[in-house]
Amino acid sequence: MDKILISACFLGEKVRYNGEVKRLSHPLITQWSKQGRLISLCPESAGGLPTPRPPAEKQPNGQIIMTTGRNVTQAFLSGAQRALALCQQYQIKYALLKESSPSCGSSTVYDGSFTNKKIAGQGVTTELLRHHNILVFSENNIEHLAKLLKTG
Ligand code: SF4
Repeated sequence: MDKILISACFLGEKVRYNGEVKRLSHPLITQWSKQGRLISLCPESAGGLPTPRPPAEKQPNGQIIMTTGRNVTQAFLSGAQRALALCQQYQIKYALLKESSPSCGSSTVYDGSFTNKKIAGQGVTTELLRHHNILVFSENNIEHLAKLLKTG
């Protein structure tokens, strides 16, 4: 049975930058959880960042910078590597990650200006996973993922 790497915040884990819980309530999540398909990870926590933490955005030069000016690119890359290692450990081919996050975004990210403006792009973890042929979906196309999963 195909396993799925899932953003830990989707399961209600307190890992978001602002410390808020924002569970993704969806019948497919309930079903996949019962089937034991879900392997959860927060790449930013795995990369060593605390919760809460200042918001961070990907800059046009690819670096990840917090609102405080701290460069956290290495922590983000380290979290992405942890995500990839988990996928390799469990032979995971699919990921369901939170849209627009600088780690987990798969179609859009914030533009780096901290003005709440989104642009087309992907987060650091998504980029690494896709580079290794792992298909990344978000809360916006979860049904598409469901169609690809093997039932057996
Ligand atoms: Fe959720 Fe990903 Fe942000 Fe962690 S890095 S809080 S899993 S969106």
